[in-house]
Amino acid sequence: MPLLEIKNLQIEFGTGRNAARAVDGVSLSLEAGKTLCLVGESGSGKSVTALSIAKLVPSPPARYVGGEILLEGRDVLKMSSRELRAIRGGLVSYVFQEPGVSLNPVFRIGAQIKESLKCHRPAVANDSEVIRLLKLVGIPAPESRLRNYPHEMSGGMQQRVMIAMALASQPKLLVADEPTTALDVTIQAQIIDLLGELRRQLGMAVLLITHNLGIVGDLADDVAVMYAGQIVEHGPVREVLQRPLHPYTQALIQSVPNLRADVERLMAIPGAVPLPGSFPSGCRFHPRCPKAQSSCSTQAPELAFVQSGRRVRCLLWDSPVPTQTISLRA
Ligand code: SF4
Repeated sequence: MPLLEIKNLQIEFGTGRNAARAVDGVSLSLEAGKTLCLVGESGSGKSVTALSIAKLVPSPPARYVGGEILLEGRDVLKMSSRELRAIRGGLVSYVFQEPGVSLNPVFRIGAQIKESLKCHRPAVANDSEVIRLLKLVGIPAPESRLRNYPHEMSGGMQQRVMIAMALASQPKLLVADEPTTALDVTIQAQIIDLLGELRRQLGMAVLLITHNLGIVGDLADDVAVMYAGQIVEHGPVREVLQRPLHPYTQALIQSVPNLRADVERLMAIPGAVPLPGSFPSGCRFHPRCPKAQSSCSTQAPELAFVQSGRRVRCLLWDSPVPTQTISLRA
């Protein structure tokens, strides 16, 4: 049984004629100890999908209109408030972008981690456990650092503190929502390496949400690409990055800076992700797709299994692929 299984999830905002479906039939699964990266531009529905795992999208305004979210086989959408409180920050922990905003500026970081321990493991809500967690996330001299206020730490160190807080409950699933977005490039790589190392050490599953396909190769086992509320491609990370089948995935890869590629100009995807409630007819990507044909504006493609373990939502998925692929370190 997978640790997390999302089946045909549908989430809407608004009602009646103003109803806008932000997540439309998303199905995903994640095994214990594995990493899944959910990739797409802002507005594609990936963060709403990720937050819904612990039912953190408030309802209203959101309405969970269909589907299931099974955590260890139990449907989150049918849980009571008490059960939801137990899994939030317990079975599932979150790390968000911009740690400087998430941390409370008027409390020392040690006190903030201890608060998290008090909620989930009160028996060890003490300095030595805080120090152990700070060591685990690679913070030097943790004995003195626990007395720091957030503003006394760099952005990278603040994000390590956020990860330590998330680990305080010993979660089985860590959801990292754009954890590197507010950080500079070298620190981004350190945080991705840290998440990979923690996953190996602690055996937890990681769901990484990102708009940057360039960082997923170092961490993910599988990758799912989202566009306009739907999964458009899903499969093992090496295969998706080295042989992307969907034009949107191909365009995302082409838009990642690559120092080894001999290109004069970085590719940009024209236009923007359509807003929920105003998705175009047929394939939702067709107004921006370089391969679109007339049938694409009238015929909505299904998410189809095209090879073992790979799913693609495109009428013309087997047309030629671009030359640039993303390098994989491992
Ligand atoms: Fe592009 Fe058509 Fe495939 Fe949509 S169905 S991604 S428009 S080729």
